Amino acid sequence: MSGIALLLTQSLLYFGVMAVLFRLRHAMGLGAFLCALGVMHFLETYLAAVFFIQLPFGLLSPGSTVLFSGKLAIILLFYIREDAETVRQPIYGLLIGNFLMVALVATLRLYGPPVSLQGYNPDLALINQMGVLMVWGTTLLFIDAIALILVYERLRSLLPRSGVLRAGLSLAVILTFDQAAFFVGLRWVTGTPFDALIGGWIAKMAAALVYAVYIGLYLTLFERKRLEAAPEPLADIFHKLTYRHKYEELLGKSSHDVLTGALTRERFEALGPAMLSESYAGGRRMSLLILDIDHFKAINDRFGHVVGDAVLRRAGECLRAEIRAQDRMFRYGGEEFVLLCDGLPSAGAMNLAERLRSTVQDVLAREFEAAPTVSIGVATAPEDATTLPDLLNRADSRLYVAKRQGRNRVVGASGGEG
Ligand code: GH3
Ligand code: MG
Ligand code: MG
Repeated sequence: MSGIALLLTQSLLYFGVMAVLFRLRHAMGLGAFLCALGVMHFLETYLAAVFFIQLPFGLLSPGSTVLFSGKLAIILLFYIREDAETVRQPIYGLLIGNFLMVALVATLRLYGPPVSLQGYNPDLALINQMGVLMVWGTTLLFIDAIALILVYERLRSLLPRSGVLRAGLSLAVILTFDQAAFFVGLRWVTGTPFDALIGGWIAKMAAALVYAVYIGLYLTLFERKRLEAAPEPLADIFHKLTYRHKYEELLGKSSHDVLTGALTRERFEALGPAMLSESYAGGRRMSLLILDIDHFKAINDRFGHVVGDAVLRRAGECLRAEIRAQDRMFRYGGEEFVLLCDGLPSAGAMNLAERLRSTVQDVLAREFEAAPTVSIGVATAPEDATTLPDLLNRADSRLYVAKRQGRNRVVGASGGEG
């Protein structure tokens, strides 16, 4: 088998199996996926120490090219489909597990050479290589994983539509950084020649490309319809990745509402103006829908707050299932939701609103004796307003018109206000 065929086969096998485990995370639990990721880390370390292959442009190890680059790609996919709070778990697990491995090996060395068995010649290369370099590599992996996610997010504003391109670019940037930074340690400890730097780098750039394609295939084949997390400020993501956001949560700054899973009103205040100006700068329309459940107080009074809460949760689910991945949904008040839809002109927003109204009505009528309905006000920037507060006011006064006209309806620009 040629070197390139070997690398491609290994990357496909590695990513393929990990992707299947990831895909099954809701059925099997995340434990299976995370455990497999950790086990593969051992093989990566071992191969990087003992197994090299020759390619036309230099010497490289499948441990670094396939398994190390692949692990970063899998961590990125994990982040894309889950969130910072979840992905930090394997990032810290790998860091601590690696340090533990180094510490255990260091204590083995205190004992001296192992007893030699007849006819068996154990390979101690890995044990002998663990030390300063492994500590450096482990620390770098930790930095790489966090920086990878931040670069991916940073590229969001430049390449808002192409997740795969963003994944490939951020992998390329981080693998370049890693190659250079690890080489500094390698040269310092072992005096490795410079051509090893270039060969490994070329291989890692190819790996970034191949893994970005795999990520794209996975997302389009298996998780196309799932909602992507709302964009968040980089500082927030960094704090979450490094377990430093707990304080903010205690202060009540969590970004998602627990009952409905919608973004909070605070998030609306923080994200909304930026979304609007980005949309305007891109020459797009942006529609705002405000949706209020009809006679909700009466539902609470008649059926109790537990049923009221169930209605809210279900209404939130119905909305989320209907909106596009790039739309953002906020719980604005008790039983009011606001949707921000970038790139959606007025007519499209009216269609969406009507679809939401009828879906919520159908689903809730099937599931609740109260058969709740919703009223929706729609406004679009820039024709209705150019600032977020004005846009919200416009939509809100149309919601009020919808309520006055008898509820369970949508009112937009032609509906008349005041
Ligand atoms: P309208 O059709 O005019 O909107 O009538 P309404 O009864 O829905 O009026 P309003 O919007 O003023 O009522 C909101 C009610 O929602 C009041 C409050 O008790 C209830 N509510 C707010 N938050 C929650 C919540 O989290 N859970 C439950 N069960 N009820 C809530
Ligand atoms: Mg209300
Ligand atoms: Mg209401």
